[in-house]
Amino acid sequence: MRRQSSSASRAAAPEQLGFAGMPERLFVCTPSKLGAYADCPRRYRYSYVDRPAPPKGPPWAHNSLGASVHTALRNWYALPPERRRPDAVPMLLKATWVREGYRDVEQEREVFRRALAWLESYVETLEPGADPLGVERVVAVKTAVLAFNGRADRIDSRPGPDGPELVIVDYKTGRTGLDADDARGSQALALYAYAAERVFHRPCRRVELHHLPTGTVAAHEHTPESLARQVDRAEATARDIMAAERAVADGADPDAAFPATPGTLCAWCDYRRHCPAGAGAPSKDPWTAVDRPAAPTE
Ligand code: SF4
Repeated sequence: MRRQSSSASRAAAPEQLGFAGMPERLFVCTPSKLGAYADCPRRYRYSYVDRPAPPKGPPWAHNSLGASVHTALRNWYALPPERRRPDAVPMLLKATWVREGYRDVEQEREVFRRALAWLESYVETLEPGADPLGVERVVAVKTAVLAFNGRADRIDSRPGPDGPELVIVDYKTGRTGLDADDARGSQALALYAYAAERVFHRPCRRVELHHLPTGTVAAHEHTPESLARQVDRAEATARDIMAAERAVADGADPDAAFPATPGTLCAWCDYRRHCPAGAGAPSKDPWTAVDRPAAPTE
């Protein structure tokens, strides 16, 4: 049977029925869970299947930096509008600063100053009195296969030709610049948009990556069809994961069910020390991505 491929038909889709009329189990997922499998099924297994989970490597400074900036921006919107001024940013960043992963105090201070400059420039672009519809807002939706939930950095409501429209905003702090193709290709952003449209009953087609280091915005306007295609892809990934989990439960070799796909990401993988397939990857210091030059988007 052909899979449904429009958001309208998806909205009306009944829960899929399996054997004996029993509803099939929905795959409960977040964007990072789907992304982990897409990046490397073995990494997915280490994170979500093996229990106890294998030990992770030490914390990464770029994750600390990303978390610090994201929390500072969340707290920015918790301030009363009259206090949303650039001079509030140092206090916000200090309060949320995560110290883990840096080489030394000197590097940490330098990165703090860098992050402060990004934030001070970024908040200048925000309207102090404008409250987003959601800040770190969890949106959730069910399809015939997925029970999706995810926390969007920001959901804006902006005027459109036929009334208010929602926009998904995702903050980025990685060193690599981002363009419209990144916004178009992001499954996470598309799933947030798909879910937000259903949660708030308003159109949500525009997705934006706000790259703080360069102060640039990479945007894409989805259509119902392009969102449905991303949902189709997410469902296909979910089916693969459920099939692999079933195979392991039925006695298959976990290494075969969740194959390793070594590549450039191994150097940044939390399980590299545990994973024989990733052992040959060049080793990165926890602070490499915040040193110059550098690394992956957070
Ligand atoms: S080290 Fe590489 S191959 Fe191993 S789990 Fe991580 S990403 Fe996969």
